[in-house]
Amino acid sequence: MNDRPKVMVTFGTRPEAIKMFPVVHALRADGRFDVKVAVTAQHRELLDQVLAIAEITPDIDLDLMQHGQSLDALASRILLCFGQVLADEKPDRVLVHGDTLTTMMVTLSCYFRKIPIGHVEAGLRSGDIYSPWPEEVNRRVTGTIADLHFAPTQTAADALLAENTSREDVFVTGNTVIDALLATKSKLKDDPALGHAIDTALADVGSKRLIAVTAHRRENFGEGMRNIAAALKTLASREDIAIVYPVHPNPNVAGVMTEQLGAVDNIRLIDPLDYPNFVRMMMRADIILTDSGGIQEEAPSLGKPVLVMRDTTERPEGIAAGTAVLVGADCDAIVEQASRLLDDPCSYAKVAQAHNPYGDGTAAQRIATIIGSRHRLT
Ligand code: UDP
Repeated sequence: MNDRPKVMVTFGTRPEAIKMFPVVHALRADGRFDVKVAVTAQHRELLDQVLAIAEITPDIDLDLMQHGQSLDALASRILLCFGQVLADEKPDRVLVHGDTLTTMMVTLSCYFRKIPIGHVEAGLRSGDIYSPWPEEVNRRVTGTIADLHFAPTQTAADALLAENTSREDVFVTGNTVIDALLATKSKLKDDPALGHAIDTALADVGSKRLIAVTAHRRENFGEGMRNIAAALKTLASREDIAIVYPVHPNPNVAGVMTEQLGAVDNIRLIDPLDYPNFVRMMMRADIILTDSGGIQEEAPSLGKPVLVMRDTTERPEGIAAGTAVLVGADCDAIVEQASRLLDDPCSYAKVAQAHNPYGDGTAAQRIATIIGSRHRLT
């Protein structure tokens, strides 16, 4: 059994864990790999919520989160600590996801030891190194070093090919977030108790239309967050809607939102939800307002219109399909677009159709098969 290639799956944040748990499960189910999970825990509580739900116990947990640590402090700690993990474990391949500091520094650490990297959710590009910041550079550096690029869409694959990435190293797999979403929907169906934490908030919504909100992006800290709060306050003055907002614990978000919205009628600020409860809230929502990347991918699959509170997006497929509209962190644009959807049933019906530009729920299986071929496994 020990001659199976050792594949180490690494991640550090909630969205990475959501998108990597299907890969861990698919590699384990495949049986041809010795699978190890190593987490940096760049986020702690939010990561642990996902690990518990996905029933994954990391083999290695670097527990690197420190409140308020700078990007350079975190980057250097990941590089040094992960170097030791590689020296001890000697994996044959490491898988990273997306565009976090964990992604880039783990990749560099592997590069220094010539350990091949597979990049899940490869090829997303905004073209602007400061938006999203620092994610655009994190993923470009990772793309330069990886020898397997799992692109979620053809657009992402084309971006890699335009950067002269070898064609035989680029694979369109779909996004593993759709695997995670479909698996969680089906778990909720089998065991509705999983999604109970959101019950009280949804009971308060009653028959009102629900606007579900998340906002956490660094580019929106400060003025952007204040604009978003002002837009939510304006929308909340309508009697026919309720807003439920699981607030990200970052003080740049939680501080502003609690101060501006803590006592506003029709707005309910709640703690971050675990994934099944968040999926349940999205399923109940009429509109989703977010600056998140992953939620832009999940919303079309659930047939939910999503207003993207960012100036640019590296996920153009939802915009092209009409399910997503870019509104920036701009108070007037957010209110105008949300009101249009709420007041015009034709506009709403046009965009509220379930479709899956980001995948069909089998991305993780494809990734396991491709890794098997690359390591010449039969
Ligand atoms: N999410 C969650 N609970 C919440 C808010 C979001 O489980 O309270 C999930 C959401 O469904 C998506 C992921 O977290 O899969 C998005 O994470 P985030 O917005 O933090 O990061 P991004 O996608 O922007 O990298």
